[in-house]
Amino acid sequence: MTSPTPGALEQLIKLLSKMPGLGQRSARRMALHLIKKRETLMQPLLQALATVEAEVQSCDRCGNLDTAPICAICQDDARDPQLLCVVEEVADLWAIERSGGYRGLYHVLGGHLSALDGVGPGDLRMAELLERVAAGAVREVLLATNATVEGQTTAFYVTEQLKPTGARMTRLAFGVPLGGELDYLDDGTLTTAIQARSSF
Ligand SMILES: [Zn+2]
Repeated sequence: MTSPTPGALEQLIKLLSKMPGLGQRSARRMALHLIKKRETLMQPLLQALATVEAEVQSCDRCGNLDTAPICAICQDDARDPQLLCVVEEVADLWAIERSGGYRGLYHVLGGHLSALDGVGPGDLRMAELLERVAAGAVREVLLATNATVEGQTTAFYVTEQLKPTGARMTRLAFGVPLGGELDYLDDGTLTTAIQARSSF
């Protein structure tokens, strides 16, 4: 049976289906939508892809994405340079920035340790982190890795590595989310919230 779609279109669908969260079906719908919106969506998207491909790079210092070799956050004098927040991915950095509750600097590891996927310390930006903290200008390292087994393993490893530097190691609090109802929480979250209870 021959494919009902021409080769070029087939190739586009195949590429789109490799995007996180997209399967073949959504990729087909997306391709058809792009063709329908050729001028208002496909052409601006082509332009945006070319610009991002040419100009966006990883910050040499923290691993954030920017158009400059040192990102805007690292260059922001209003931030506390002695406070360093360690995250797994740039998306986590963006999430913390959106909260507006943090005014320190960052270090993006680029993933988490995972024996299953063969990811070791050498595959992450660990050496760069150690170098930054060992240079002495960091007072506190806030570990904001994910609350998953891999995220916590990574946080534990980072803590062990940074211990000799003498920097204060902190982590995000775990517990009841704002607006959360106790009856809907999983047992692990509730247990951690009870253990980490604070005075009224
Ligand atoms: Zn940076």
